[in-house]
Amino acid sequence: MRKAVWTAITWPVVLVAALAGCGGARARPAAPPDVRGKTLLAVFAHADDEIYVAPILARYAREGARVYLAIATDGARGGAPHATIPLGEALAAARAQEAACATRELGIEKPILLGFGDGALGAIVGPPNADLERLASKVRETIATVKPDAILTWGPEGAYGHPDHRLVSSVVMQVVQAGGPPLFSPGLRADDIIRGKNLLLEQQSPVAERLLGVRVGFDAADLERAKRAFRCHRSQFDSQMTERILDGMQRAWNGVILLQPWFGAPAGEGVLGR
Ligand SMILES: [Zn+2]
Repeated sequence: MRKAVWTAITWPVVLVAALAGCGGARARPAAPPDVRGKTLLAVFAHADDEIYVAPILARYAREGARVYLAIATDGARGGAPHATIPLGEALAAARAQEAACATRELGIEKPILLGFGDGALGAIVGPPNADLERLASKVRETIATVKPDAILTWGPEGAYGHPDHRLVSSVVMQVVQAGGPPLFSPGLRADDIIRGKNLLLEQQSPVAERLLGVRVGFDAADLERAKRAFRCHRSQFDSQMTERILDGMQRAWNGVILLQPWFGAPAGEGVLGR
């Protein structure tokens, strides 16, 4: 009799505790960190390079972070066979408009255009490395102005080895390792490159999975914004190539962008708000 009473009283208590406690917590995914008031800065070489992280730029902006995109070169020499815009100032102006279009579509701040010569970051100038020192100074100024909580830039491979990409990576890393916020670079594993096979990704240098310690997911709306942003870069790709690249990137990402943390930046989920 006494045992029966104990059971009748205790079971509902145990059940409620299980539902409200760890059982309930397991059923609910953890809420994403609050990134409102945080700032993310992406630094790349050319207008259109942002495609490598575009869905997560859109995601962080959607979640309330301030997101900036700095573009090192003016893109004046990046002509494409289908485009009729003359190289030089006209193309630089077109690419500035395309960058503005892309940032609008992503829902992020207006682009920060650093205006360096396209394809010329590694030019031999006097004094030696003067252009790279000027770029380092511009990156420092940009960091001082926007005060990012995290920075995204190329890894040393520059995605597919473009010298401007490599040099932007080198300069941003130089600046951040002297004292700066957590730094991350997007990378694709060999399997991602195979899965996303297209003309662009075939030339991509893979990054070992163990180095890609940061994951940032994105939703369908973020992906759609990234696609609309990439379609802004009409001077670079015809519509067929644009869709081919987007299809390849989408398959390579598979819903998550992987990043390599640098200089002791934390591994785990996300780059802001942890
Ligand atoms: Zn580029």
